[in-house]
Amino acid sequence: MSSIVLSVVVPMYNEEAVIPALVERLRPALDGLGVSYEVVAVDDGSADRTAQLLFENGRTWPELRLIKLRHNSGHQAALTAGLHRSLGEWVVSIDADLQDPPETIAEMLHTAQEHGLDVVYGVRSDRSTDTFFKRHTAGAYYKLMRRMVGADVPSQAGDFRLLSREVVDVLKVLPERTPVYRLLVPSLGFSSGKVAYAREKRAAGETKYPLRKMVALAWDSAANFSAAPLRIATWLGAIAFAACIALMIFGIVVYSNGTVIPGWTSLFLAVLLLSAVQLICLGLLGEYVARIYKTVQNRPTFHIGFDSAAAEPPAIPQQRTAAGAR
Ligand code: UDP
Ligand code: MG
Repeated sequence: MSSIVLSVVVPMYNEEAVIPALVERLRPALDGLGVSYEVVAVDDGSADRTAQLLFENGRTWPELRLIKLRHNSGHQAALTAGLHRSLGEWVVSIDADLQDPPETIAEMLHTAQEHGLDVVYGVRSDRSTDTFFKRHTAGAYYKLMRRMVGADVPSQAGDFRLLSREVVDVLKVLPERTPVYRLLVPSLGFSSGKVAYAREKRAAGETKYPLRKMVALAWDSAANFSAAPLRIATWLGAIAFAACIALMIFGIVVYSNGTVIPGWTSLFLAVLLLSAVQLICLGLLGEYVARIYKTVQNRPTFHIGFDSAAAEPPAIPQQRTAAGAR
């Protein structure tokens, strides 16, 4: 085990404006913890002076590490890079813009250690500083995700969370290309707790999540956890097939009345039947593609938390709990 107790992963994209404020607030919060730590600042291919400023700050703040991605790869990819490179026994991910208060990290670490938890989510209790648009799109997003992934997904928990080394090691071996950690972590089923915090205003600069990136995150979230879009073809096929039977009867009635031009009935029926059959076959293919996709994702189907026959049985783990909630 490394000697670093806590790693703090901070993804940053064009955040030069916020770096001075971040350093000023994050450093005392971490120094005050009284444990060894590192800050893993991931520069997500910024076009501004983010990397340079981080590097300069690293001269006077030896715990500050800089990891620079070659090009802008997105928030979740930057988080992945940070998780893979972090060395601590605990890893916290936090936004650079001080919307997640760094002082909450102490409470997260304390909650995890006191209750023996593997995951502690930072849950936004107050989003009044977010825009009307952000609050409502986020509300709809969490509602949908809880329906798709399950009730284990805490609503209003973004990417401010604490993970144990064990969780990070599980995440590191997953081959997923587009992980969405706020859904992936709860789906692994580790013992977890929550710490509530008030979402603050962005300290400087502007949001790095334009609508385009929000839509991409929502689509990744849906496609990572649900084969529902692939099933659309099956459902359309079934509906088309039912419609086809009704229209067949209609076609035959019209034909027997003799009011149609020759060839219409056979053509009409052939088009209906073939398109229904095609959609059903597409849906079938989709079902198998979904299974291949699941296999490729290679998520653990179970995770053993305790085995009394293990060589060195660990202390009986806490129940899966939200004991840390307050
Ligand atoms: N971010 C990133 N790469 C991106 C977009 C965002 O690393 O392509 C980082 C950004 O620097 C910040 C965090 O992700 O630390 C959250 O972004 P932001 O605060 O702009 O999102 P919002 O709070 O507006 O949803
Ligand atoms: Mg923000």
